[in-house]
Amino acid sequence: MAKRDYYETLGVPKNASDDEIKKAYRKLAMKHHPDRNQGDAAKPAEEKFKEAKEAYEMLSDPQKRAAYDQHGHAGVDPNMRGGPGAEGFGGFAEAFGDIFGDIFGGQRGGPGGAQQRGGRQIFRGADLSYAMEISLEDAANGKNAQIRIPTWDNCTTCSGTGAKPGTSAKTCTTCHGSGSVQMRQGFFSVQQTCPHCRGTGKIIPDPCNTCHGQGKIKNNKTLEVKIPAGIDDGMRIRSAGNGEPGSNGGPPGDLYIEIRLKKHDIFERDGDDLHCSVPVSMPRAALGGEIDVPTLGGKASIDIPEGTQHGKTFRLRGKGIKGVRASYPGDLYCHIAIETPVKLTEQQRKLLQDLDESLKSGGMKHSPNEKGWFDKAKEFFR
Ligand SMILES: [Zn+2]
Ligand SMILES: [Zn+2]
Repeated sequence: MAKRDYYETLGVPKNASDDEIKKAYRKLAMKHHPDRNQGDAAKPAEEKFKEAKEAYEMLSDPQKRAAYDQHGHAGVDPNMRGGPGAEGFGGFAEAFGDIFGDIFGGQRGGPGGAQQRGGRQIFRGADLSYAMEISLEDAANGKNAQIRIPTWDNCTTCSGTGAKPGTSAKTCTTCHGSGSVQMRQGFFSVQQTCPHCRGTGKIIPDPCNTCHGQGKIKNNKTLEVKIPAGIDDGMRIRSAGNGEPGSNGGPPGDLYIEIRLKKHDIFERDGDDLHCSVPVSMPRAALGGEIDVPTLGGKASIDIPEGTQHGKTFRLRGKGIKGVRASYPGDLYCHIAIETPVKLTEQQRKLLQDLDESLKSGGMKHSPNEKGWFDKAKEFFR
């Protein structure tokens, strides 16, 4: 079978940056996650994931990428070096660890999907996600937040058995407690999850009224979450084991806290940098001098030179945000917005008219932008 182009596999252009490649890979890894692709979809998803992983491994390594760009697949044969094909599905922990693990620590609770334990099918619980909106200040400084999340406690009525008190669960007669059954298909014998007990190996003839046979009751609990300083919009924090419970003794899923940044009144964030607009009066811009500018840490002042134009940007080094993984904070960019005075008194109007006359008598030399504009316009209409 012809191998797909690595760039095509990840859906990125040939000149994609390392960041774009990583993002594309992460997206694919999520899409083909085994938790989302069970049953018939599991196998094709696994193939897709392996393909994406191989492409990512090649393109994220500058040397391999260069070899691939020059010689195509012949330049980088992953099978030559026990590449991704040999590792199988364990690559998921790596895929996510790569992106989240090194920030927030901890290990993912193993690959999802069904596994066999003691003959019975066990399932990892589903992951939960929680959207948290935080202010720019909290994102910059970090904070401890408390959130309410669902939790599942053992039902006290039936002590977690799922059977009405005084009754008990019976061994499933279809699978004799093993949770799986053998099906014959032509020459093959296939093992399947028992359709009668859904892999639990038990049947509850008289389910508990409180938990409807689940053995667990959904409650809420408060979880303390440490939001690391520098976190940005769209980042996720994983809280291992706080997702839905697994079944048949399977491990619980994880909780993902997705960060959303609230819009700030003054600052706009761009990565680790901040931008803000600073209104300056027309005379002040013309004369120059000290003006106040806001920073996340409070007021600061900058000296603007004489003749500062609208849209001029002043950079305050280190007054941005220190990103989660950054060693230095970003910068603050103050964009000057010149204000045209309004609600003029008669006297002010007169002063401006006099000023206007006086400026005109100086020709274009007082209007640096207008001069350039007129020159271009002249070119254009010629
Ligand atoms: Zn059964
Ligand atoms: Zn119960």
